Amino acid sequence: MQQKVVSRARRQRGRVLGPSTNGGLKNCAAIVLAHLIASCSSGNAERVIQPATAAPTAQPTTTSPSATDMSPTASGPTDTAPVASTTGPSTDPVGTSMPGTPDVGVDSPVSRHGQLQVMGAQIVNAQGQPVILRGQGFGWDNWWPQYYNADVVSWLRSDWCVDMVRPAMGIEPDGAYLTNPAASRGRMTAVVDAAIANGLYVIIDWHAHEFHQEEAIAFFTDMAQTYGESPNVIYEIFNEPTGDATWPEVKAYAEAVIGAIRQHDPDNLIIVGSPEWDQRIDTVADDPLVGVTNVVYSVHFYAATHTGWLRDRTQAAIDAGIPVLISESSGSEASGMGDNDLVEWQAWFDFMDANQLSWINYSVSDKEGETISVLEPGAPANGGWDESHLTPTGEYIRDVFRSYCPATR
Ligand code: MG
Repeated sequence: MQQKVVSRARRQRGRVLGPSTNGGLKNCAAIVLAHLIASCSSGNAERVIQPATAAPTAQPTTTSPSATDMSPTASGPTDTAPVASTTGPSTDPVGTSMPGTPDVGVDSPVSRHGQLQVMGAQIVNAQGQPVILRGQGFGWDNWWPQYYNADVVSWLRSDWCVDMVRPAMGIEPDGAYLTNPAASRGRMTAVVDAAIANGLYVIIDWHAHEFHQEEAIAFFTDMAQTYGESPNVIYEIFNEPTGDATWPEVKAYAEAVIGAIRQHDPDNLIIVGSPEWDQRIDTVADDPLVGVTNVVYSVHFYAATHTGWLRDRTQAAIDAGIPVLISESSGSEASGMGDNDLVEWQAWFDFMDANQLSWINYSVSDKEGETISVLEPGAPANGGWDESHLTPTGEYIRDVFRSYCPATR
């Protein structure tokens, strides 16, 4: 998710990051035009488009980048009331589970599936069987550090029944990794260690929007040396390249960072992003990485913006043999605001089930009035969340996770 660079930064620092940093303002026109084009072509022309409020300066493109809303102010919750998931949510009331005792060796996602691999376009488990992992992402660690702890991981495991988590280590904003790497690393490893203790898979997300290849190589070398023996760990080397980055540039970066990881970890999954906020999986399909193993490519969707046209694009890539993992998603507009589109969101759940895609919902954060935040402002930092602590989105996605929960967990 990209817009928080601006919206959160505005709220906290009282100024707006420039387009050269966030890449968003200039795409406001692009998203509106592109969405109109895409909606018409995919039969979704009836959908209402809410243009971003900032004056656009971008060149229109034929694609639809995510995370373009520059709206800085929280105008109150915009989400709709939660409705029951059509996937058959559990009827268990929110907040009745006890924080989970780590159950490694008893039954957990990692005990069931072990070392993940990529075979063709499919993520498979240690036995070579297709596996679908569903997980919850954390918000930027530099803005929501309070949730980067073992209690939250245990709660997501025991009460939400997730298979994996995705700590999102902010890179560029003030106070994030580039300016305070030790603190960022500490938050990341707190979640990774807790995920391992709980038998969960964990995506180590380099939550960047620009290239920082030297720093990324140093960080992922450290992570591979530290966690390369753990089947729990997945590396995501570039969250969302912005609209300025081309696939050849991202590909060259990926080759360098993957090479560094593979010096220490020969097998764990590595997730590679694609241009335009991980919507240009078609550019990957035209020119995928070669000579690499256990690499998957990320697609991000926000269902009220990214509709059938992105599913079609993703399907075409999968059909061409490209392995895909949805490492960010939610039901809102790409800005993280606006109403959840429950019909489109369900269409994505169905699409991901049909293609056996693993996915992450975004995010554990408590930003006032933000649709994608799963927590109400001030929600406890140690889990144990009940209905009063969850936003409508939080209640909804919790039900979705629980609907997939195996009988033994
Ligand atoms: Mg390994």
